[in-house]
Amino acid sequence: MKRAARVLPPEGDVLDYPPVPLVRDLVLVGGGHAHAIVLRMWGMKPLPGVRLTLINPGPAAPYTGMLPGYIAGHYPRHALMIDLVRLARFAGARLILDRAVGLDQSVNQVNLGGRGPVRYDVVSLDIGISSDLPDLPGFADHAQSAKPLGQYAAQWEDFVAQAHPSPSVVIMGGGVGGVELALATAHRLRKLGARPTITVLERGALALPGVGGPTRARLLTELTAAGIDLRLNVSAARVQADHLILTDGSTLASDFTLSVAGARPQEWLADTGLDLTEGFVAVRPTLQSSDPAIFAVGDTAHLTHAPRPKAGVFAVREAPILHHNLRAALTGGAMRAYHPQRDYLKLISMGDRRAVADTFGLRAGGGWLWHLKDYIDGKFMAKFADYPAMPALKVPHPAPPDLAEAMGPKPLCGGCGAKVGAVALHAALHVLLAPARADVLSGPGDDAAILRTGAGVQLITTDHLRTFTNDPFQMATLTAVHALGDIWAMGAQPQVALAQVTLPRATPCLHADMLAEIMTAAAAVFTAAGADVVGGHTSIGAELTIGFAVTGLAQTPITKAGATPGAALILTKPLGTGTILAAEMAMAHVPGVILGEAVAACLHSMAAPQSQAAAILAPHAAAMTDVTGFGLAGHLMEMLDASGVAATITLADLPRLPAAAQLAAAGIASSLAPANREALEGRISGPDDPLLYDPQTCGGLLAAVPAAMATNLLAALHAADISAAIIGRIESGAPHITCR
Ligand SMILES: Cc1cc2nc3c(=O)[nH]c(=O)nc-3n(C[C@H](O)[C@H](O)[C@H](O)COP(=O)(O)OP(=O)(O)OC[C@H]3O[C@@H](n4cnc5c(N)ncnc54)[C@H](O)[C@@H]3O)c2cc1C
Repeated sequence: MKRAARVLPPEGDVLDYPPVPLVRDLVLVGGGHAHAIVLRMWGMKPLPGVRLTLINPGPAAPYTGMLPGYIAGHYPRHALMIDLVRLARFAGARLILDRAVGLDQSVNQVNLGGRGPVRYDVVSLDIGISSDLPDLPGFADHAQSAKPLGQYAAQWEDFVAQAHPSPSVVIMGGGVGGVELALATAHRLRKLGARPTITVLERGALALPGVGGPTRARLLTELTAAGIDLRLNVSAARVQADHLILTDGSTLASDFTLSVAGARPQEWLADTGLDLTEGFVAVRPTLQSSDPAIFAVGDTAHLTHAPRPKAGVFAVREAPILHHNLRAALTGGAMRAYHPQRDYLKLISMGDRRAVADTFGLRAGGGWLWHLKDYIDGKFMAKFADYPAMPALKVPHPAPPDLAEAMGPKPLCGGCGAKVGAVALHAALHVLLAPARADVLSGPGDDAAILRTGAGVQLITTDHLRTFTNDPFQMATLTAVHALGDIWAMGAQPQVALAQVTLPRATPCLHADMLAEIMTAAAAVFTAAGADVVGGHTSIGAELTIGFAVTGLAQTPITKAGATPGAALILTKPLGTGTILAAEMAMAHVPGVILGEAVAACLHSMAAPQSQAAAILAPHAAAMTDVTGFGLAGHLMEMLDASGVAATITLADLPRLPAAAQLAAAGIASSLAPANREALEGRISGPDDPLLYDPQTCGGLLAAVPAAMATNLLAALHAADISAAIIGRIESGAPHITCR
């Protein structure tokens, strides 16, 4: 029988809607320089049908070219951090904040340290090197390595803040990085009025190998002028808290010990089965490894056809070739070859705002070279500060007059920011009749149904969230925590959960992968909460949406009614999820804020279950609720309405997520915030705070507890590592919130 020809959509520009099904997985492991540029290029021209994933342990990656300037105090930390969360949003990539620990070619999976494996069709490695010295006794406890930067930066700032009048610093490694950082260290400490003793240890007979003679001579003169002691043919044999024991048997005082020695590949690469050279992934001119589906770039790679020293300049130059070849690998196109330059302009900073050049026989040095370096570095970082504007929402023409208002000024938020506003919801709920059945104890519009059972009550609640992250695993974790909120707030024991999942269009293989991630994540949350996940329902739709119906059991549930004057109000999580998620969606660039770090802190707080908080508060709470879409003020008002009382809130005591207040002050708010504010018009007085109306996803519990017990309860919450605060008190009077 002749098969009917398949009707394919016409070729042409891909429209936003309907979304193109996902058919391939491209995974970028490491947010190094090459991948950062590839992500930017991808954002400018995505490849439809490809799910792009970035795996990196932190939400921001340092641009090391500016590291010496940061140590010297010329740049704030945020100036050298590439915000991977903003970048991933621009690229449409899923960002997984985790560390790759293995790669299994037999099943096309990257293994992660903190969660299940991630599948790939094509994968690229850009994970840099490490300059730690794990075999050196005492290193792990008493020393820092220049790479990765995160811990070094934090320890350095702590050390500087101690304002030691005569600190000793030892830098292990007499290469360019070690000498640059030694000069930067001397500059910063002297500027602060200290008299430091700085020593550079180089185990070879020559410092600054690979640097031209005149430049080396200049840098050695600078070291001497800065009073830095360079010791050759010696290294550390042991690191102690305040000194080092050297290989020649002598000891050397050190209050801050740093390693910039060598370039160590990550050990797990040795188990991948890939061809390696000295532990680095051997690649051909196309940047493909011995497995053509696996690419490697930057310091991770060894260019077999043209070996080069480890330097960021090569990672940067490889990026356009990698971008082209990844697309070629995914579409069957022709690959391009990378031919690295023989030499490049090395601009080495000398502590103060001067630099020396080392290239093409150039023998220059001075302030103008620092400004040149500053300009080049600034230009690179500017690529990641402002992204080309997304096409603005356009109101079609002709259109009904109120369409523009309905579309709003910005795209709809995800999570609880996509809730229907309180005014519209309450209007709709009026049509519900009071329950007719005697075993239904709750009223119409309650957060959860309360059903009388033999011994006590059973609670049933449901929640679903519109996606705000491309990561089904994370989305499922957060939705599960969110869905349990009502059960915990009512002081009940979670019992059972059923999932409702809408998956975006994709191949059966990707669907299976997404569902497995969702169910794994959900099962982890519900099992830890003491509930079983028994099944659910799936469908395919325009975007990822995950929901759970959850039941719980209690003898006498805590409700929003019961708060009495004098009671203290405790909130168990910091506010700001709506603002931060809105900022993330808009890729907001607020000076001084590393948005990615704010988002990571926000997601971490959101993922924290409330079981312990509920266990501490429930035995004493007269009224309790979870703070979700209507914001703190909206949910507090529900409690006041149900209890027939008023409340006072002390704004200074509100716990806030890092950067939430700065983002709110910059005018960033969830799309639901205006409706939350409108719903409370005339019912709230005193100074304003936008975070009062901020919709919370996975928000904290709000409990009214006896004032005499509040301090002890707070101490118990803090002991359980819960960022709770006493935020106000219940007053007598008609339901109203007074802020002060
Ligand atoms: C003090 C100093 C100054 C320097 N100055 C210069 C300079 O001026 N010019 C120059 O060309 N080079 C310079 N370099 C060298 C330069 O820093 C590196 O060559 C460059 O950073 C390499 O870039 P990359 O993309 O390979 O990796 P990196 O920039 O090191 O990025 C690696 C990324 O991978 C992530 N990662 C690590 N492990 C994993 C894992 N297991 N799973 C997932 N993600 C992981 C890291 O968190 C990081 O975000 C300097 C180095 C130092 C130490």
